[in-house]
Amino acid sequence: MKKIGEILSEEIRSIAIAGHINPDGDCIGSCTALYGYLKKACPAAREIDLYLETVPHELRFLKGVDEAKSSVPENKVYDLVIVCDVSSYERIAVAIPLFDLAKKTVSIDHHISNANFAEINHVEPDASSCAEVLTGLFDPDLIDEKIAESLYTGIINDSGVFQYQNTSPDTMRKAAFLMEKGIDFSRIIEDSFNKKTFAQNRVLGYVLMKAELAFGGQCIVSSLTTEEMDRCGVTRQDLDGIVSRMRFTEGVEVAVFAYETDENVFKLSLRSKERVNVSDVAAHFGGGGHVRAAGCTIAGSAGEVLDKMADVLKGYLSL
Ligand code: 5GP
Ligand code: MN
Repeated sequence: MKKIGEILSEEIRSIAIAGHINPDGDCIGSCTALYGYLKKACPAAREIDLYLETVPHELRFLKGVDEAKSSVPENKVYDLVIVCDVSSYERIAVAIPLFDLAKKTVSIDHHISNANFAEINHVEPDASSCAEVLTGLFDPDLIDEKIAESLYTGIINDSGVFQYQNTSPDTMRKAAFLMEKGIDFSRIIEDSFNKKTFAQNRVLGYVLMKAELAFGGQCIVSSLTTEEMDRCGVTRQDLDGIVSRMRFTEGVEVAVFAYETDENVFKLSLRSKERVNVSDVAAHFGGGGHVRAAGCTIAGSAGEVLDKMADVLKGYLSL
């Protein structure tokens, strides 16, 4: 696909847009951008709906978020369902019934582990973010300031404000183009990326205090149980960014952060610096993601899941 217009036609009267489970800034930025864009680019569509499971407080400023639905109607058949930033079928989560019934399905993504589960799969694994992919697929003239805000938010979220290795000259060119649409980029970075609540900063400190080094300092690991989250007054939505901070530790190649999502079930977030393909590591446990940022879910106590991860990781590190 060169432009999004290729998948649109006169026959498409109803469109649903959906993201992934526990949506992040790229997912929400991409979905709201596409929502705003299709309203302009596809006047034949009488019905355009946006489905997002939850929206964290710091992303509620994005245009379209207020209209997003968090649950799906039964037996609803859309002419077109587009999923953004979703690497695998299961991760469509709440919108799976819509995807199953849709007349046409499209996936727009940037995960190297993408399973090509839709009818049309547009995956650019070298792009920093799904929002970067969408910026290239949109007609530049139809991108207004609000759409540009959403796209820029997605790009800075997944590129760590242009500091992770997934940032390319093309990422910068697209961001420059979005800046020219008049967005208040420094406010977006401050409010949606830098700003943390007191509780979020305290839990970051707590996780860093608990962290340990493994494999001669090549790996940093830490964990958080539900009980500890309760004590810190946070939920899983407050934990974004912690694993990236762990990775900043000198000498570390891989950072592993495990947090409890159900009794004795942990979500693991993985980040690497230069060598280890963590998407590959996560795939050992049915997860996936990107070369430098990935995740998976493992059952067991905090100690057990970290041991299971260490067993796999040791094959990827120089010992
Ligand atoms: P995070 O650690 O921030 O939750 O996720 C990092 C990256 O890995 C994201 O791009 C996310 O989509 C992907 N990811 C996280 N958890 C999973 C998982 O359980 N399965 C798959 N396929 N991807 C995941
Ligand atoms: Mn993404």
